[in-house]
Amino acid sequence: MRLHEYQTKQIFNKYGIPIPRGKIALYAGEVKQIADEIGGPIVVKAQVLVSGRGKAGGIRLAKSAKDAEEIAAYILGMEIKGLPVHKVLIEEAVIFNQEIYLAITIDREAGLPVLMASGSGGMDIEEVALRSPEKILRLQINPLLGIQEYHARLIAINMDLSRQHWRQFSKVLAEMWKVFRDCDATLVEINPLVITGDNRQIALDGKMIIDDNALFRQANLAELRWLEAENPIDTESRKFGLSYIPLKGKVGCMVNGAGLAMTTMDLINSFGGEPANFLDIGGGANAEKVSAALKIILSDPHVTTVLINIFGGITRCDEVARGIIATLYEVESQIPIIVRLSGTNAKEGMQILAERNLNIANSLSEAARLAVDFSQRVPNGNTH
Ligand code: GDP
Ligand code: MN
Repeated sequence: MRLHEYQTKQIFNKYGIPIPRGKIALYAGEVKQIADEIGGPIVVKAQVLVSGRGKAGGIRLAKSAKDAEEIAAYILGMEIKGLPVHKVLIEEAVIFNQEIYLAITIDREAGLPVLMASGSGGMDIEEVALRSPEKILRLQINPLLGIQEYHARLIAINMDLSRQHWRQFSKVLAEMWKVFRDCDATLVEINPLVITGDNRQIALDGKMIIDDNALFRQANLAELRWLEAENPIDTESRKFGLSYIPLKGKVGCMVNGAGLAMTTMDLINSFGGEPANFLDIGGGANAEKVSAALKIILSDPHVTTVLINIFGGITRCDEVARGIIATLYEVESQIPIIVRLSGTNAKEGMQILAERNLNIANSLSEAARLAVDFSQRVPNGNTH
């Protein structure tokens, strides 16, 4: 679960990591007053869960409160990378000399947290990572010891940070570590941490991702989930307990069980096709869940064929069939659907499916071959 910048900053503030003065706004109409209270030049920042808002025009400087209101109205009408902007953060504009990049995340190969830091922070950090990766220092962190003074010194030396900043810098890092640890985060990023003309260090931007599997013990954070800001498909699949990951191909897949889903995707590949998604409906899915899954698949404009592969154990094939039929009454779709049912109540499932003109396959490889065949015959996806 990713947090918004303003939510991340509220957490930073609790831990004593300095942030700019600011307030969230939902309507342009309330921006002038907020900006007046803050005083001086203002930054208006779109709160959307994507990276690179700055480059997409979602972060703008305003000279006056009036100006801030106009800019806010404009940004609140924007879509950034497909997500509408529902909130803007109104902040004091900070003048700075240097932008530092800091992040703590998990190094999955090492199985350890890793601290990344660079003296060339800011909007071009991805470019830096690509072209001059040596400018980003990576330090693995022992999770029991956390970030220590010596880590901070090492980074400070590496980025030529002047000595007067070391004490504050090491405090920011130590608190960042506490945030990471206390919140069960998989990412805590400050980019940029700026050094101002009067030698203060301020987190101008903050990004956090919380481990979804830890939300059961992070009730306060779980509450922050702000559904409208999320991709509606993610919201929908979470609501129904589906594991859905969109991919690039044309064959939409619905399978029960992660292992079977991967096997199905491998078979599609081996017949020369490409899966449009990974979708595991889990064990014991009812018709409603199946229907939600099928609607998600059909909403992908790249899908030209759907392959439904169910091995009925706890999952009942008749229930799956009912979900498929119900969906086809609701959604007008010309897309060929190939179904392979096997196991619990497969026969009953087939009888239910006979009502519609679906393509029934008797084995998994036949199903995959058919699906790839169909997907290559149809030039373009879904027309609804
Ligand atoms: P991102 O593009 O989504 O990472 O958004 P950021 O919050 O990092 O903002 C992008 C860039 O805008 C920063 O790297 C800064 O260069 C600039 N920026 C953000 N806030 C301020 C501010 O208060 N003052 C000034 N001068 N620039 C800012
Ligand atoms: Mn940033």
